[in-house]
Amino acid sequence: MSQKISCEVLDRLTKFFEGTPSPTALAKNPTWHATPFTVLISTVLSQRNRDEITYAASEKLFARYPGPAELMNADLEELNELISNVNFHFNKAKAIKEIARILCEDYGGEVPKDINELVKLPMVGRKTANCLLGYAYHIASICVDTHVHRISNRLGLVNSKTPEETEMQLQTAVPKTRWLEINDLFVRFGQEVCTPQRPKHEQCPLQDLCLEFKKEVK
Ligand code: SF4
Repeated sequence: MSQKISCEVLDRLTKFFEGTPSPTALAKNPTWHATPFTVLISTVLSQRNRDEITYAASEKLFARYPGPAELMNADLEELNELISNVNFHFNKAKAIKEIARILCEDYGGEVPKDINELVKLPMVGRKTANCLLGYAYHIASICVDTHVHRISNRLGLVNSKTPEETEMQLQTAVPKTRWLEINDLFVRFGQEVCTPQRPKHEQCPLQDLCLEFKKEVK
């Protein structure tokens, strides 16, 4: 897939959503993206969780523990209680407390800007790390969630089995200057048009570029 086609995809989606505010989590919630620390911790909390649940938990959490220094000394039981509406909150409470300790002890209280350092943190994989780099630091990165993985394969931008493979193939398929556009556009597109079940082909501005659509109409 040529970079010309991937640019055409991004251009058309940008035009398609022109004038409508982004519904994605980081764009909508100021508490979530106040600092690199809040982006990181909120993104960990958001794993396998609905955004509304994460907003509520993040707000309570950061009102009580606004930074890593406070969070590393948090009482685990109280922490569990604060994020109790989040899935896997026992594991997440332990993980975010440990993340806070590592940030304070190894990184001077800052969130590192290096993906190889970020993925050493508990419950931080490439998706969370790339999301952090892009949304908190505006560093060129591709955050591959389920929407990005599905849509990239349907369009034929990549041919991959895992989100990690998708990330690597998108790095070639899309010019680096446009990597940061992918997550926001594809998440919106995946929620509204190219949904997991019964994608709304009839509303899609990408029909003529889409491998999946070509297969279906054959
Ligand atoms: S044509 Fe259908 S499958 Fe292809 S990108 Fe559009 S909505 Fe998704």
